[in-house]
Amino acid sequence: MSDCQNCRRYLDAEKKGRVLPCYMADYFTYGMIVYCRPQMIWIIEWLDSIGDGDWPVDPVESGYSGNSGGSAPAEGYFAAAARVYSDVMTRLDRTGEAGETLVWEIQHGIDSYERLSPAAKDALNYISGWRTRSDSFKSWRYNKKRQKSLNKNY
Ligand SMILES: [Zn+2]
Repeated sequence: MSDCQNCRRYLDAEKKGRVLPCYMADYFTYGMIVYCRPQMIWIIEWLDSIGDGDWPVDPVESGYSGNSGGSAPAEGYFAAAARVYSDVMTRLDRTGEAGETLVWEIQHGIDSYERLSPAAKDALNYISGWRTRSDSFKSWRYNKKRQKSLNKNY
C-alpha cells in the first residue's frame, strides 16, 4: 500500500487533496504515467490494448468524444500508447522469464504487489521507475540479494 509514496502522482494528490494517489486509482490518463509500481501493474493489465494503440477509456468519465479522459497528448493517443507500450516492453524484455511470469500473473487477476510471486516482484521492481535502469536485471537482482544478506548481519 505504501507502493507509491515517493511518486510525483502521490505527492500531487496529497497537495491538492482531490485526485487519488496511484495505489488507490484504477484509471490513469496518458499524462499521469510516471511508471511507478501501481501504474506498471495497471499498464500490464491493459498491455494488449495499449499495444494496439488504444488507450483504455476512463470507466467513470467516458465522454462523448470517445477519447480517454483529459486532454489529448500533443502526439495523439495512438502515438502516446505506442510509446508507453514500447517503453514497458523494452524494460520487460530485459527481465526475461521473471517478466513473463509478472505479465502472466497480472493478466490472470493478481493486481496487488503483495500477492505476486517473488520472481514477479523482482521484475516489477526492476521495470518500475521514471528512468530505465542502467544495470542488467541479472546484476540488479544480484546486488539486491547481496544487500539483503548484508543487512541481515547487522
Ligand atoms: Zn505513483
